[in-house]
Amino acid sequence: MRLFRPRNIVLALVLAGGLGLWLNRGAVASHMMGRIYERALGKDPFADMPDGLSVALCGSGSPMPDPTRAGPCTAVLAGHRLFVIDIGDGATRNMSLMNLPPAKVEAIFLTHFHSDHIGGLGELMLQRWAGGSSQAPVPVYGGPGVDQVVNGFMTAYDQDHGYRIAHHGPVIVPPTGFGGIPHPFDVRKGQPDRVVFQDKDLKVTAFPVEHQPVEPAVGYRFDYKGRSLVISGDTAPSSRLETASKGVDLLVHEGLSPRLVGIQHAAAVKNGAKTISAITHDILSYHTFPEDAAAIAQRAGVRQLLFTHVIPPLPMRALEGPFLGRSRQIFHGPIQVGRDGDMISLPVGSTEIRHTNRLHTFK
Ligand SMILES: [Zn+2]
Ligand SMILES: [Zn+2]
Repeated sequence: MRLFRPRNIVLALVLAGGLGLWLNRGAVASHMMGRIYERALGKDPFADMPDGLSVALCGSGSPMPDPTRAGPCTAVLAGHRLFVIDIGDGATRNMSLMNLPPAKVEAIFLTHFHSDHIGGLGELMLQRWAGGSSQAPVPVYGGPGVDQVVNGFMTAYDQDHGYRIAHHGPVIVPPTGFGGIPHPFDVRKGQPDRVVFQDKDLKVTAFPVEHQPVEPAVGYRFDYKGRSLVISGDTAPSSRLETASKGVDLLVHEGLSPRLVGIQHAAAVKNGAKTISAITHDILSYHTFPEDAAAIAQRAGVRQLLFTHVIPPLPMRALEGPFLGRSRQIFHGPIQVGRDGDMISLPVGSTEIRHTNRLHTFK
């Protein structure tokens, strides 16, 4: 008789329901898959976004392997216009997962030509073309040498270009739309900042940074309807970046923890790994320690600091504290250690700063 207590009946129903779901898990998953694709393909991916300036990390990593971080890539949304700053390995895939369709990319801006910042350029150019029937190549802005980078990737993808047209036909993949058009600009040390893109309410300014021996190496400032942000690219502490960042809403800065890289270095020395011990020594000179970036953000009066290009990999969130060190005592605004998918939005007509993650909460 005790078996038929209400609590036991509810428990039995729950178990039966769970068993039913488990037995039909393939059909349930297929139904959910259809719903997700309908949502992803059936609406403007930016329809829910307020008018504003947003940053989304399609890659928060560096050349060091990190299974949770793609190579360096920062997407910028100005209103519903999509731009990409650097395009590391794996970042194009992240963009699709974040519902930032490569086909909607209006222009690409490169900070410099280290492999981790350009490794995904061929894939993004191909996906933008083949995924959206693009009629024209994507503009790619960068310092002198950007033409060599763009044309090199186009040469490497030339055969695939032919395969796609032969397979899908020129209506779906217009032959004229493939690849990129380089837009070189000359911004070097000793020269003033330069507006490299201006259209309607959006202005993009490039300024030189400190990444010797890499030249050119620039950062970018975006201004849109009274909201503003700066993206550092790779740099040691830079006075030009600090000046360009005066009063911006958001500074997206690279960061290298000398303590944590020191752990890598000590292990390499202990094991006689000469190449790794040399690299973990050399990289300290042309990146910025988080506490130094925090000091720059504080002096420049920025409102929020977002770290990207995180070195070394942080496989556990518990490492974020050691990565930041004393940064939170130095910079008095909010600090975030960026992860793939993180989005920060700055709605126009307000001082609001919104945080979401487009990778882990599908929208
Ligand atoms: Zn880099
Ligand atoms: Zn670099």
